[in-house]
Amino acid sequence: MLLSVPLGLMAAAKLFHASGAALYLVGGRPRNALLGLPSGDWDVAGPLLPDAAAELFRSVPEVRVHTRDTALGTLGVLCDGQEVEYTPFRAESYGVGGEHRPQTVRFGVPMEADALRRDFTVNALYWNIAEEQLIDPLGGQADLSARVLRTCRTPAETFDDDGLRLMRLVRFCAELNFAPEDATARAAAERAHLLRDISPERLWVELTKLLLADTRYPDGKPEQVARGLNLLEELRLLDVLLPELGEGRGIAQRAEYHAHDVLGHGLAACAAAPAELTLRLAALLHDVGKPAALRQGGRMLGHDKLGAEIAAGILTHLRCPKARMEDVCALIAAHMVDLDGRMGENKLRLFFVKLGHERTRMLIELRRADVRGSKDQPEGLDPAEKWVGVLARMEADGVPWTLKELQFSGEDATALIGAPGQKVGQLLNLLHRHAIQKPKDNTRAALTRLARQFLQDTARWGG
Ligand code: ATP
Ligand code: MG
Repeated sequence: MLLSVPLGLMAAAKLFHASGAALYLVGGRPRNALLGLPSGDWDVAGPLLPDAAAELFRSVPEVRVHTRDTALGTLGVLCDGQEVEYTPFRAESYGVGGEHRPQTVRFGVPMEADALRRDFTVNALYWNIAEEQLIDPLGGQADLSARVLRTCRTPAETFDDDGLRLMRLVRFCAELNFAPEDATARAAAERAHLLRDISPERLWVELTKLLLADTRYPDGKPEQVARGLNLLEELRLLDVLLPELGEGRGIAQRAEYHAHDVLGHGLAACAAAPAELTLRLAALLHDVGKPAALRQGGRMLGHDKLGAEIAAGILTHLRCPKARMEDVCALIAAHMVDLDGRMGENKLRLFFVKLGHERTRMLIELRRADVRGSKDQPEGLDPAEKWVGVLARMEADGVPWTLKELQFSGEDATALIGAPGQKVGQLLNLLHRHAIQKPKDNTRAALTRLARQFLQDTARWGG
């Protein structure tokens, strides 16, 4: 194997080598090179302490040292425009609980000690850049060939120090198509509670990476996401991460439509949704209201609106950005609309415009994912395909999706009514509703005629 590195980094590595120290590529790069996969970031490490390493880096013309984390000793280095992170070999000690940050850090330790503070053996491979040689202190290459993730120390030690590693385990399994080694899986399942010590921000980052695991590397498949979600469930991490989803476990659904319980259906629908974060979240959570709706009156009535509220709580807690949360919740609230396929086109057009164009596109995808995640060969009505036709006609007809696209302005309305006021808004809304259903009338002349007619009628009927 040969790992190529940016020229500036090679120059630095040669200087490190000449000074009697070494510079290694670590983390995802050597691992992915052995797997034939591309990598994003450049992580390097070595025995030199932060000061000495910074000095050597600075003496290379193509290299700039720009940041420094005093607690962990990490240096941010720019090599030929490439961002590189240098971490001095270190040993760590952690307090009780799975909190992510070490209590004490010790530098100047040998590579073996540095390897042991890492998460999985496949992430503890060291590529000596100057000597072009791979060093494998913990047997990571064998685990790589077997496609397993094994903790660097005993699983208990590795996980007890940092609960985030439980999420990393599942995420790497999904991204790389790996499986946890048996003892690693057993210990993880016994330690799900450690996730409670991890900040919601970090959980959110890992969850979103997991939900998009199939986009990480070329030729990814949605089954990777399904495997990752099932692993979350098998390791009982789901009950800590998303307890509201866990409540759907064992809740059966009508067999003619569903092959899964409520929880299994959510996981299957999520993996069946297109690889967009909003859609994957909406599919994962779309039935999260069912257990509560069942309790409140059976037959899961109103689970869409209830689910949207529960999802808002979950996503707020996880620090999901507001705009995305609102999209997800709007989709969940709308996912039962026209389920029997009997809604007329005019009503649907109004509903879609109220929802918005982009959300309508996503709602169609959510319905498809809902059906695909229900049964292997779903039967019965599926309004999504009818909706595709309605949406296509709306686009072809040039439906005004917003008041801005209406060929009749607020000023036009005010002029016609004679004074500003509540009536202006009412008139515009009436014209908008009309133009959504009959886009041909979206001209200034036609709308003015209609506006006069409306005003006459309301005057006559005392509206
Ligand atoms: P990716 O391809 O996602 O970048 P990576 O393995 O490079 O994968 P990083 O998060 O970039 O992951 O971390 C670099 C390396 O640092 C890891 O390979 C691992 O050795 C170590 N590491 C990172 N986070 C942890 C952690 N929470 N616990 C232990 N080791 C960690
Ligand atoms: Mg990395």
